[in-house]
Amino acid sequence: MAASKVLTGARVVLPTGIVDGGRVIVDGTRIADTGTGTGTGTAPADAETYDVSGHWLVPGFVDLHNHGGGGASFSGSADDVLTAVRTHRAHGTTTLVASTVTDDMDVLTRQAGLLSELAEQGEIAGVHFEGPFISPCRKGAHSEALLRHPDPAEVRKLLDAARGHAKMVTLATELPGGLDSVRLLAEHGVIAAVGHTDATYEQTVEAIDAGATVATHLFNAMPALGHRAPGPIAALLEDERVTVELINDGVHLHQAALELAFHHAGAARVAFITDAMDAAGSGDGRYLLGPLEVEVTDGVARLVEGDSIAGSTLTLDRAFKRAVTVDGLPVQDVVAALSANPARLLGLDDRIGSLEAGKDADLVLLDEEFTLKGVLRRGEWVVGPHLG
Ligand SMILES: [Zn+2]
Repeated sequence: MAASKVLTGARVVLPTGIVDGGRVIVDGTRIADTGTGTGTGTAPADAETYDVSGHWLVPGFVDLHNHGGGGASFSGSADDVLTAVRTHRAHGTTTLVASTVTDDMDVLTRQAGLLSELAEQGEIAGVHFEGPFISPCRKGAHSEALLRHPDPAEVRKLLDAARGHAKMVTLATELPGGLDSVRLLAEHGVIAAVGHTDATYEQTVEAIDAGATVATHLFNAMPALGHRAPGPIAALLEDERVTVELINDGVHLHQAALELAFHHAGAARVAFITDAMDAAGSGDGRYLLGPLEVEVTDGVARLVEGDSIAGSTLTLDRAFKRAVTVDGLPVQDVVAALSANPARLLGLDDRIGSLEAGKDADLVLLDEEFTLKGVLRRGEWVVGPHLG
């Protein structure tokens, strides 16, 4: 059982607003209280006290779309998965959905079994299948030979293999079987995400009406916004039922595209994701993304064959810092995009996603420059706190 902790003097981002000189009291694995004041409040006498004046306290980050990190991948062994999870945890991601990439159905169902065990152990929040039901026209870093149409029976196979831990499936909804697959996913409480798609505006509207609620990395791997053919981007941005994923690494999106999405969808409908691959939190070099070879140069991952961008090397603490210091977004909007919105999408907002009494003690400590100085997960320090 983690010791009780009191963190005082911080700028605390609460659902109700930013509190200066705020306090968070942690009892075991949960948040016991939040508010103002420098004392120890209702904390037990033996609580550890931390003066974190001059720092921000924000909720732990929630990543909906992540393929790996620390040189390891969610397509690998249980040890690989844990390496990647711990790498991202050290960067503030206290909740993470493990994403697969297109592969043989046999490989995917086997991997789903392995990932579902790690979900049962509480290491990951579930599984996101990106592919194989995607468009060959927008395949990005997925093997063309392994792509297939979204047959609901095959989608069902993946859900069964994940034993209740499938959280999201990215699919090209315009392909044969696409809309039926969306309906199947919605019936099972699994997020149907429109992505790696060549759909028209009208086809995308149909997919949303059928139950799709997420745009997989909006702008990337889909037709551009055209004035006569607005395509998926317009449909996904305008519909209140849809949350749009954005990769805020300065590579996948122009700053103006990010601002356009934020402006149009509003902060409550944006989720920042990493779409990270193995090199995140690691370094440049040669890696694998599923079955494909990737070369990482200056932190940018590209397929060795074809030169397509192949995931990112982003961590969510960097996405946070960039959103505030480069994009100029309000801190509270960034917290929504990194924590509250993805937590709500996953149906976990009763436990995580904001700093509120009764929720898991998942906190990120940032200095005035928004550099990560500490990560508390379920009441235990995973990083730091590095104060002073
Ligand atoms: Zn991805």
